[in-house]
Amino acid sequence: MIKLYNTLSREKEEFKPLEDKKVGLYSCGPTVYWYQHIGNLRSYIFSDILKKTLSYNGLKAKHVMNITDVGHLTSDSDEGEDKIEKAAKKEGKTAKEISDYYWDIFRKDFKKLNIAEPNIWCKATEHIKEQINLIKRLEEKGFTYRTNDGIYYDTSKFKDYGKLAGLKKEGLKAGSRVEMKEKKNPTDFALWKFSEKPGIRQQEWQSPWGIGFPGWHIECSAMSMKYLGESFDIHTGGEDHISVHHTNEIAQSEAATGKKFVNFWLHGAFLTFKGEKVSKSKGGLYTLSELEEIGFSPLSFRYLCLMAHYKTPLDFSLDNLKNAENSLKRMKNIIEGLKDDKKANKEYLGKFEDAINDDLDIPKALAVLWNLVRDKKATGKVKTIEEMDKIFGLNLFKKEKSAIPDEVNKLVKERESARKKQDWKKSDEIRKKIEDIGFLIKDTEKGPEIKPINK
Ligand code: AMP
Ligand code: ZN
Repeated sequence: MIKLYNTLSREKEEFKPLEDKKVGLYSCGPTVYWYQHIGNLRSYIFSDILKKTLSYNGLKAKHVMNITDVGHLTSDSDEGEDKIEKAAKKEGKTAKEISDYYWDIFRKDFKKLNIAEPNIWCKATEHIKEQINLIKRLEEKGFTYRTNDGIYYDTSKFKDYGKLAGLKKEGLKAGSRVEMKEKKNPTDFALWKFSEKPGIRQQEWQSPWGIGFPGWHIECSAMSMKYLGESFDIHTGGEDHISVHHTNEIAQSEAATGKKFVNFWLHGAFLTFKGEKVSKSKGGLYTLSELEEIGFSPLSFRYLCLMAHYKTPLDFSLDNLKNAENSLKRMKNIIEGLKDDKKANKEYLGKFEDAINDDLDIPKALAVLWNLVRDKKATGKVKTIEEMDKIFGLNLFKKEKSAIPDEVNKLVKERESARKKQDWKKSDEIRKKIEDIGFLIKDTEKGPEIKPINK
């Protein structure tokens, strides 16, 4: 039995799929105008763990993820520039070149982090017809109105608006600082935006209401229902999506179909930096490649994410990452020395399964793994750990090639002793030798750091 915390009911519930053994799973994907940072990637490690846990339990997930390549405005609401159009202008590229480039990097990050790709990737720009049809359905049912700049959803017409986030409409009206313009209610949102002057935007389409482009929320309703049906099992995303994006997805979908849209809503907590949301201004907004450039392996970052429950904020620092990397290395060293013996250890596997099935308690599952490797009497370690790694996805049995050859390590030591003797000439000669072999050496307070050139 799998239990999952459902944001909708604010309770841990037993998970039962709508259809026997099959699970419809939708995850809000990236807006592909820039690199995804490690905070975003934490969200996808969480949905990967969920998917692997479902599969471990014999369920088959059909996993759909969208690519937002139009309509996400810089303000996250209905004002500002389209993020993709803005990036295209800045980089002198077409919108498609921008979105394909960042999507490709995103997929490479998935691979490096052992995140399984979804069964279906769907791009907003390739589903304009579906989005227009959904808006038409809402229009026919009287949920829309027109303003100067678009077609809006009238949230006052939807009885349960805000149920996911526990929003109170009255409070919203009274205290809101939302720019209203012609909006009837502060929570109303754009379904279709008109191009200010047709012919300027790279991405715009004809619609029954005029030339323009879809709002950000409608894509997820239209595409999830296209691939998973009007009601499906699980929808995931970061917790920042609860109060607006997912609230609006529910409003659009349920108003159009009259059916319950999604049974389980799961939300991942943020990766924080010094206790705050990672952001450009606060720092900590690394990409995975940047972590690699300073010598970390992507799976060390995955390990770091597994150390915290997905619903708990995780504070990122390079020290925390270093600790995670050391733990992973230590674990792999121990595992390398294990002999294959007998069947999986039922006792440990049972504890592990209890942990993962209890709302994906991966930190507890990791503790079970550590207890197992330290237990001198336990048998069946190899088989048990193989099973566990189906969820952890840490390549626990893959031998690491020592990234730095012995020859280089020896030269580094020689150079250190030359430096101690203040023999700068010799130290420089050795540095050159090391560079000839293909490694760069950087002297830091903590000692020399070595990394391969061009990596
Ligand atoms: P975006 O590309 O902005 O649409 O975001 C992609 C996903 O990353 C969404 O599910 C966000 O909720 C999630 N996300 C954004 N920032 C963070 C963060 N700091 N920690 C965890 N998840 C995040
Ligand atoms: Zn979405």
